[in-house]
Amino acid sequence: MSEEYMKKIIYADNAATTKLDYDAFEAMKPYLLNEYSNASQPYSFARLAKKALKEARKIIAECINAKPEEIYFTSGGTESDNWAIKGVLLHNAKKNLITSEIEHKAVLNSAKFIEKMGCSVKYLKPNCDGIINPLSLEKSITNETGLVSIMYANNEIGSIQPIKELCNIAHQNGALFHTDAVQTVGHIKIDVQELGVDLLSASAHKFNGPKGIGFLYVKSGTNITPYIDGGAQEKSLRAGTENVASIVGMACALKNNCNYIDENLAYTKSLEVEFLKNISELDFIKNGGQYTLPGNISISFKGKSGESLLHRLDLKGICVSTGSACNSSMTQISHVLKAIGLNEEYAIGTIRVSIGKENTIEEIHFIANELKKIISG
Ligand code: PLP
Repeated sequence: MSEEYMKKIIYADNAATTKLDYDAFEAMKPYLLNEYSNASQPYSFARLAKKALKEARKIIAECINAKPEEIYFTSGGTESDNWAIKGVLLHNAKKNLITSEIEHKAVLNSAKFIEKMGCSVKYLKPNCDGIINPLSLEKSITNETGLVSIMYANNEIGSIQPIKELCNIAHQNGALFHTDAVQTVGHIKIDVQELGVDLLSASAHKFNGPKGIGFLYVKSGTNITPYIDGGAQEKSLRAGTENVASIVGMACALKNNCNYIDENLAYTKSLEVEFLKNISELDFIKNGGQYTLPGNISISFKGKSGESLLHRLDLKGICVSTGSACNSSMTQISHVLKAIGLNEEYAIGTIRVSIGKENTIEEIHFIANELKKIISG
Protein backbone atom coordinates (compact mmCIF):
# COMPACT_ATOMS: atom_id res chain seq x y z
CA MET A 1 0.00 0.00 0.00
CA SER A 2 1.34 3.47 -0.81
CA GLU A 3 2.49 5.75 2.00
CA GLU A 4 -0.32 8.14 1.20
CA TYR A 5 -2.93 5.44 1.80
CA MET A 6 -1.27 4.32 5.02
CA LYS A 7 -1.58 7.84 6.45
CA LYS A 8 -4.25 8.05 9.14
CA ILE A 9 -7.40 9.66 7.84
CA ILE A 10 -9.26 12.03 10.11
CA TYR A 11 -12.72 12.12 8.68
CA ALA A 12 -14.65 15.30 9.47
CA ASP A 13 -17.01 15.39 6.50
CA ASN A 14 -19.95 13.49 7.98
CA ALA A 15 -22.48 15.76 6.29
CA ALA A 16 -21.17 14.42 2.96
CA THR A 17 -21.41 10.79 3.99
CA THR A 18 -20.87 8.58 7.04
CA LYS A 19 -19.06 5.36 7.87
CA LEU A 20 -21.14 2.21 7.50
CA ASP A 21 -22.46 0.91 10.82
CA TYR A 22 -20.85 -2.47 11.51
CA ASP A 23 -24.13 -4.11 12.58
CA ALA A 24 -25.69 -2.86 9.34
CA PHE A 25 -22.85 -4.44 7.37
CA GLU A 26 -23.36 -7.77 9.18
CA ALA A 27 -27.14 -7.57 8.68
CA MET A 28 -26.68 -7.04 4.94
CA LYS A 29 -24.28 -9.93 4.31
CA PRO A 30 -26.81 -12.83 4.25
CA TYR A 31 -28.90 -10.99 1.63
CA LEU A 32 -25.88 -10.49 -0.61
CA LEU A 33 -24.51 -14.02 -0.34
CA ASN A 34 -27.17 -16.59 0.48
CA GLU A 35 -30.62 -15.02 0.59
CA TYR A 36 -30.22 -13.46 -2.83
CA SER A 37 -33.73 -14.18 -4.09
CA ASN A 38 -35.92 -11.65 -5.84
CA ALA A 39 -38.37 -10.62 -3.10
CA SER A 40 -41.27 -10.53 -5.58
CA GLN A 41 -41.06 -14.25 -6.44
CA PRO A 42 -43.76 -16.53 -5.01
CA TYR A 43 -41.55 -19.54 -4.12
CA SER A 44 -40.41 -20.28 -0.61
CA PHE A 45 -36.77 -19.28 -1.28
CA ALA A 46 -38.01 -15.66 -1.59
CA ARG A 47 -39.80 -15.78 1.75
CA LEU A 48 -36.86 -14.50 3.81
CA ALA A 49 -36.16 -11.59 1.46
CA LYS A 50 -39.84 -10.63 1.50
CA LYS A 51 -39.90 -10.86 5.29
CA ALA A 52 -36.73 -8.74 5.51
CA LEU A 53 -38.35 -5.97 3.43
CA LYS A 54 -41.45 -6.04 5.62
CA GLU A 55 -39.39 -5.89 8.79
CA ALA A 56 -37.17 -3.07 7.45
CA ARG A 57 -40.23 -1.00 6.49
CA LYS A 58 -41.62 -1.50 9.99
CA ILE A 59 -38.35 -0.53 11.70
CA ILE A 60 -37.94 2.60 9.58
CA ALA A 61 -41.58 3.60 10.17
CA GLU A 62 -41.14 3.20 13.94
CA CYS A 63 -38.04 5.41 13.90
CA ILE A 64 -40.03 8.37 12.50
CA ASN A 65 -43.44 7.49 13.98
CA ALA A 66 -44.99 6.62 10.61
CA LYS A 67 -46.97 3.61 9.43
CA PRO A 68 -45.02 0.94 7.51
CA GLU A 69 -47.22 1.45 4.43
CA GLU A 70 -46.15 5.12 4.35
CA ILE A 71 -42.48 4.23 3.71
CA TYR A 72 -41.36 3.90 0.07
CA PHE A 73 -37.84 2.70 -0.67
CA THR A 74 -35.85 4.79 -3.16
CA SER A 75 -32.23 5.03 -4.32
CA GLY A 76 -31.48 7.87 -1.90
CA GLY A 77 -32.12 11.50 -1.04
CA THR A 78 -31.88 12.79 -4.60
CA GLU A 79 -34.53 10.40 -5.87
CA SER A 80 -36.81 11.02 -2.90
CA ASP A 81 -36.65 14.79 -3.49
CA ASN A 82 -37.25 14.41 -7.23
CA TRP A 83 -40.21 12.14 -6.62
CA ALA A 84 -41.80 14.32 -3.96
CA ILE A 85 -41.70 17.42 -6.17
CA LYS A 86 -42.45 15.97 -9.58
CA GLY A 87 -44.85 13.34 -8.23
CA VAL A 88 -47.00 15.93 -6.46
CA LEU A 89 -46.88 18.87 -8.84
CA LEU A 90 -46.75 17.64 -12.43
CA HIS A 91 -50.27 16.25 -12.29
CA ASN A 92 -51.70 18.66 -9.73
CA ALA A 93 -54.35 21.23 -10.61
CA LYS A 94 -52.44 23.66 -8.37
CA LYS A 95 -49.20 24.30 -10.24
CA ASN A 96 -47.22 26.49 -7.87
CA LEU A 97 -44.26 25.28 -5.77
CA ILE A 98 -42.79 27.29 -2.93
CA THR A 99 -39.30 26.32 -1.87
CA SER A 100 -36.23 28.12 -0.55
CA GLU A 101 -33.02 29.48 -2.03
CA ILE A 102 -30.90 27.22 0.19
CA GLU A 103 -32.27 23.81 -0.78
CA HIS A 104 -30.03 21.01 -1.99
CA LYS A 105 -29.62 20.81 -5.77
CA ALA A 106 -31.87 17.73 -5.76
CA VAL A 107 -34.75 20.07 -4.88
CA LEU A 108 -33.57 23.15 -6.80
CA ASN A 109 -33.02 21.26 -10.04
CA SER A 110 -36.32 19.40 -9.65
CA ALA A 111 -37.92 22.84 -9.26
CA LYS A 112 -36.21 24.02 -12.45
CA PHE A 113 -37.53 20.94 -14.24
CA ILE A 114 -41.14 21.44 -13.22
CA GLU A 115 -40.84 25.12 -14.21
CA LYS A 116 -39.99 23.94 -17.72
CA MET A 117 -43.06 21.70 -17.58
CA GLY A 118 -45.38 24.64 -16.95
CA CYS A 119 -45.34 24.99 -13.16
CA SER A 120 -44.35 28.17 -11.35
CA VAL A 121 -41.82 28.30 -8.50
CA LYS A 122 -41.23 30.86 -5.77
CA TYR A 123 -37.96 30.79 -3.86
CA LEU A 124 -38.05 32.05 -0.27
CA LYS A 125 -35.02 33.95 0.95
CA PRO A 126 -33.50 32.91 4.30
CA ASN A 127 -32.28 35.39 6.90
CA CYS A 128 -28.54 35.78 7.52
CA ASP A 129 -28.57 32.65 9.73
CA GLY A 130 -30.12 30.55 6.99
CA ILE A 131 -33.59 30.41 8.54
CA ILE A 132 -36.82 30.71 6.53
CA ASN A 133 -39.18 33.02 8.33
CA PRO A 134 -42.71 31.52 8.41
CA LEU A 135 -44.04 35.03 7.70
CA SER A 136 -42.34 35.02 4.31
CA LEU A 137 -44.17 31.79 3.48
CA GLU A 138 -47.43 33.31 4.64
CA LYS A 139 -46.89 36.26 2.30
CA SER A 140 -45.99 34.14 -0.73
CA ILE A 141 -48.51 31.31 -0.52
CA THR A 142 -51.66 31.48 -2.67
CA ASN A 143 -54.51 29.12 -3.44
CA GLU A 144 -52.48 28.07 -6.52
CA THR A 145 -49.72 26.63 -4.31
CA GLY A 146 -49.80 22.83 -4.54
CA LEU A 147 -46.62 22.08 -2.59
CA VAL A 148 -44.26 23.76 -0.17
CA SER A 149 -40.83 22.12 0.05
CA ILE A 150 -38.45 23.34 2.75
CA MET A 151 -35.44 21.35 3.95
CA TYR A 152 -35.28 20.33 7.62
CA ALA A 153 -31.61 21.20 8.13
CA ASN A 154 -29.22 22.72 5.67
CA ASN A 155 -26.33 20.54 4.55
CA GLU A 156 -23.81 23.39 4.21
CA ILE A 157 -24.44 25.51 7.29
CA GLY A 158 -26.60 23.25 9.46
CA SER A 159 -29.43 25.74 10.06
CA ILE A 160 -32.61 24.02 11.29
CA GLN A 161 -35.96 25.25 9.98
CA PRO A 162 -39.19 25.73 11.93
CA ILE A 163 -40.76 22.83 10.02
CA LYS A 164 -43.91 22.46 12.12
CA GLU A 165 -44.83 26.14 11.73
CA LEU A 166 -44.07 26.17 8.00
CA CYS A 167 -46.07 22.99 7.54
CA ASN A 168 -49.08 24.47 9.37
CA ILE A 169 -49.06 27.48 7.06
CA ALA A 170 -48.97 25.23 4.00
CA HIS A 171 -51.92 23.20 5.30
CA GLN A 172 -53.96 26.26 6.29
CA ASN A 173 -53.65 27.33 2.65
CA GLY A 174 -54.54 23.95 1.18
CA ALA A 175 -51.01 23.00 0.07
CA LEU A 176 -49.04 19.84 0.79
CA PHE A 177 -45.73 20.02 2.66
CA HIS A 178 -42.50 18.20 1.83
CA THR A 179 -39.26 18.35 3.79
CA ASP A 180 -35.85 17.19 2.65
CA ALA A 181 -34.74 15.68 5.97
CA VAL A 182 -31.63 14.01 4.53
CA GLN A 183 -29.36 15.73 7.06
CA THR A 184 -31.62 15.19 10.05
CA VAL A 185 -33.01 11.64 9.91
CA GLY A 186 -31.01 9.53 12.36
CA HIS A 187 -29.47 12.63 13.94
CA ILE A 188 -32.40 14.55 15.42
CA LYS A 189 -35.55 12.89 16.73
CA ILE A 190 -38.18 12.96 13.98
CA ASP A 191 -41.87 12.39 14.51
CA VAL A 192 -43.77 12.86 11.26
CA GLN A 193 -47.14 12.97 13.05
CA GLU A 194 -45.97 15.70 15.38
CA LEU A 195 -44.44 17.67 12.49
CA GLY A 196 -47.50 17.10 10.32
CA VAL A 197 -45.49 16.79 7.08
CA ASP A 198 -47.00 15.01 4.05
CA LEU A 199 -43.70 13.94 2.51
CA LEU A 200 -40.21 13.52 3.93
CA SER A 201 -36.98 12.51 2.17
CA ALA A 202 -34.17 10.51 3.76
CA SER A 203 -30.91 8.93 2.66
CA ALA A 204 -29.22 5.97 4.38
CA HIS A 205 -25.60 6.97 3.81
CA LYS A 206 -26.10 10.09 5.95
CA PHE A 207 -26.96 7.96 9.00
CA ASN A 208 -24.32 5.20 8.75
CA GLY A 209 -26.29 3.13 6.29
CA PRO A 210 -25.14 2.02 2.83
CA LYS A 211 -24.97 4.38 -0.14
CA GLY A 212 -27.55 4.36 -2.94
CA ILE A 213 -30.57 3.67 -0.77
CA GLY A 214 -33.09 5.92 0.96
CA PHE A 215 -36.78 6.36 1.47
CA LEU A 216 -39.62 8.74 0.94
CA TYR A 217 -42.28 9.01 3.62
CA VAL A 218 -45.68 9.67 2.04
CA LYS A 219 -48.52 10.28 4.45
CA SER A 220 -51.50 7.96 3.81
CA GLY A 221 -53.97 9.55 1.42
CA THR A 222 -51.43 11.89 -0.21
CA ASN A 223 -51.89 12.16 -3.94
CA ILE A 224 -48.60 11.31 -5.62
CA THR A 225 -47.98 9.85 -9.07
CA PRO A 226 -45.61 6.94 -9.77
CA TYR A 227 -41.99 7.93 -10.18
CA ILE A 228 -40.48 4.93 -11.94
CA ASP A 229 -42.71 2.92 -14.24
CA GLY A 230 -42.30 -0.82 -14.49
CA GLY A 231 -43.24 -3.65 -12.16
CA ALA A 232 -45.54 -3.60 -9.17
CA GLN A 233 -42.93 -2.94 -6.47
CA GLU A 234 -43.65 -0.26 -3.88
CA LYS A 235 -47.38 -0.47 -4.62
CA SER A 236 -46.66 0.22 -8.32
CA LEU A 237 -45.39 3.69 -7.48
CA ARG A 238 -41.66 3.02 -7.68
CA ALA A 239 -40.83 0.03 -9.84
CA GLY A 240 -37.64 -2.02 -9.82
CA THR A 241 -36.38 -5.13 -8.02
CA GLU A 242 -35.82 -4.16 -4.41
CA ASN A 243 -32.26 -3.72 -3.15
CA VAL A 244 -32.93 -6.05 -0.22
CA ALA A 245 -29.46 -6.01 1.35
CA SER A 246 -29.22 -2.22 1.32
CA ILE A 247 -32.75 -1.82 2.64
CA VAL A 248 -31.91 -4.17 5.53
CA GLY A 249 -28.68 -2.22 6.16
CA MET A 250 -30.55 1.08 6.08
CA ALA A 251 -33.11 -0.10 8.66
CA CYS A 252 -30.40 -1.50 10.96
CA ALA A 253 -28.29 1.68 10.79
CA LEU A 254 -31.30 3.91 11.40
CA LYS A 255 -32.44 1.88 14.38
CA ASN A 256 -28.94 1.92 15.89
CA ASN A 257 -28.70 5.68 15.45
CA CYS A 258 -32.21 6.30 16.81
CA ASN A 259 -31.57 4.12 19.87
CA TYR A 260 -28.72 6.45 20.87
CA ILE A 261 -29.97 9.68 19.33
CA ASP A 262 -29.74 11.81 22.50
CA GLU A 263 -26.33 10.46 23.45
CA ASN A 264 -24.95 10.95 19.91
CA LEU A 265 -26.39 14.43 19.77
CA ALA A 266 -24.87 15.44 23.10
CA TYR A 267 -21.53 13.90 22.11
CA THR A 268 -21.24 15.60 18.70
CA LYS A 269 -22.38 18.89 20.27
CA SER A 270 -19.66 18.59 22.94
CA LEU A 271 -17.03 18.01 20.22
CA GLU A 272 -18.37 21.03 18.33
CA VAL A 273 -18.08 23.21 21.44
CA GLU A 274 -14.55 21.94 22.05
CA PHE A 275 -13.55 22.64 18.44
CA LEU A 276 -14.92 26.18 18.50
CA LYS A 277 -13.22 26.82 21.85
CA ASN A 278 -9.92 25.57 20.42
CA ILE A 279 -10.02 27.92 17.44
CA SER A 280 -11.53 30.88 19.33
CA GLU A 281 -8.32 32.92 18.98
CA LEU A 282 -8.82 32.96 15.18
CA ASP A 283 -10.86 35.61 13.43
CA PHE A 284 -13.81 33.83 11.78
CA ILE A 285 -17.58 33.86 11.34
CA LYS A 286 -19.61 30.78 12.25
CA ASN A 287 -22.50 30.42 9.83
CA GLY A 288 -25.99 29.10 10.55
CA GLY A 289 -26.80 31.01 13.75
CA GLN A 290 -27.70 29.50 17.13
CA TYR A 291 -29.70 26.45 16.17
CA THR A 292 -27.62 24.27 13.91
CA LEU A 293 -27.26 20.54 13.47
CA PRO A 294 -24.83 19.43 16.19
CA GLY A 295 -21.43 18.86 14.63
CA ASN A 296 -22.15 20.75 11.40
CA ILE A 297 -19.69 23.65 11.65
CA SER A 298 -19.47 26.10 8.76
CA ILE A 299 -16.76 28.68 9.39
CA SER A 300 -15.54 31.53 7.21
CA PHE A 301 -12.12 33.18 7.31
CA LYS A 302 -11.76 36.63 5.78
CA GLY A 303 -9.30 36.83 2.90
CA LYS A 304 -8.58 33.08 2.88
CA SER A 305 -9.40 30.49 0.26
CA GLY A 306 -11.61 27.61 1.38
CA GLU A 307 -10.18 25.51 -1.47
CA SER A 308 -6.65 26.03 -0.27
CA LEU A 309 -7.62 25.38 3.38
CA LEU A 310 -9.22 22.11 2.31
CA HIS A 311 -6.13 21.00 0.41
CA ARG A 312 -3.73 21.97 3.18
CA LEU A 313 -5.81 20.08 5.73
CA ASP A 314 -5.91 17.16 3.30
CA LEU A 315 -2.11 17.05 3.36
CA LYS A 316 -2.47 16.32 7.09
CA GLY A 317 -4.99 13.56 6.41
CA ILE A 318 -7.99 15.68 7.43
CA CYS A 319 -11.18 15.54 5.34
CA VAL A 320 -13.46 18.61 5.41
CA SER A 321 -15.59 20.39 2.82
CA THR A 322 -15.55 23.86 1.39
CA GLY A 323 -18.29 26.40 0.80
CA SER A 324 -17.02 27.29 -2.60
CA ALA A 325 -16.13 25.39 -5.71
CA CYS A 326 -13.07 26.32 -7.67
CA ASN A 327 -13.61 26.11 -11.36
CA SER A 328 -10.11 26.57 -12.85
CA SER A 329 -9.80 30.34 -12.85
CA MET A 330 -12.94 31.37 -10.96
CA THR A 331 -14.02 30.54 -7.44
CA GLN A 332 -17.77 30.07 -7.22
CA ILE A 333 -19.44 30.81 -3.94
CA SER A 334 -22.11 28.30 -2.97
CA HIS A 335 -25.74 29.27 -3.49
CA VAL A 336 -26.31 28.87 0.26
CA LEU A 337 -23.61 31.34 1.30
CA LYS A 338 -24.88 33.76 -1.36
CA ALA A 339 -28.45 33.40 -0.10
CA ILE A 340 -27.51 34.23 3.50
CA GLY A 341 -25.72 37.32 2.19
CA LEU A 342 -22.28 36.39 3.52
CA ASN A 343 -19.66 38.94 2.49
CA GLU A 344 -17.69 37.58 -0.47
CA GLU A 345 -14.33 38.00 1.27
CA TYR A 346 -15.55 35.62 3.98
CA ALA A 347 -17.59 33.34 1.70
CA ILE A 348 -14.53 32.39 -0.37
CA GLY A 349 -12.74 31.41 2.82
CA THR A 350 -15.41 28.99 4.07
CA ILE A 351 -14.94 25.41 5.17
CA ARG A 352 -17.40 22.95 6.69
CA VAL A 353 -16.15 20.65 9.42
CA SER A 354 -18.86 18.08 10.03
CA ILE A 355 -18.29 15.96 13.10
CA GLY A 356 -19.82 12.54 13.56
CA LYS A 357 -20.26 10.08 16.41
CA GLU A 358 -17.05 8.23 15.42
CA ASN A 359 -14.84 11.30 15.88
CA THR A 360 -12.73 11.51 19.03
CA ILE A 361 -11.71 14.48 21.13
CA GLU A 362 -8.07 13.89 20.08
CA GLU A 363 -9.09 14.21 16.43
CA ILE A 364 -10.94 17.44 17.17
CA HIS A 365 -7.84 18.88 18.88
CA PHE A 366 -5.68 17.79 15.95
CA ILE A 367 -7.98 19.43 13.36
CA ALA A 368 -8.19 22.64 15.40
CA ASN A 369 -4.39 22.78 15.83
CA GLU A 370 -3.66 22.16 12.17
CA LEU A 371 -6.23 24.76 11.16
CA LYS A 372 -4.70 27.30 13.53
CA LYS A 373 -1.23 26.64 12.07
CA ILE A 374 -2.51 27.06 8.50
CA ILE A 375 -4.50 30.21 9.18
CA SER A 376 -1.80 31.94 11.20
CA GLY A 377 1.11 30.63 9.14
N1 PLP B 1 -30.57 16.60 0.32
C1 PLP B 1 -29.63 16.99 1.19
C2 PLP B 1 -29.95 18.05 2.19
C3 PLP B 1 -28.35 16.43 1.15
O1 PLP B 1 -27.41 16.84 2.01
C4 PLP B 1 -28.08 15.43 0.18
C5 PLP B 1 -26.74 14.85 0.06
O2 PLP B 1 -25.74 15.52 0.18
C6 PLP B 1 -29.12 15.04 -0.69
C7 PLP B 1 -30.34 15.64 -0.58
C8 PLP B 1 -28.91 13.97 -1.70
O3 PLP B 1 -28.88 12.70 -1.09
P1 PLP B 1 -28.23 11.43 -1.82
O4 PLP B 1 -26.75 11.61 -1.72
O5 PLP B 1 -28.72 10.26 -1.04
O6 PLP B 1 -28.73 11.42 -3.21
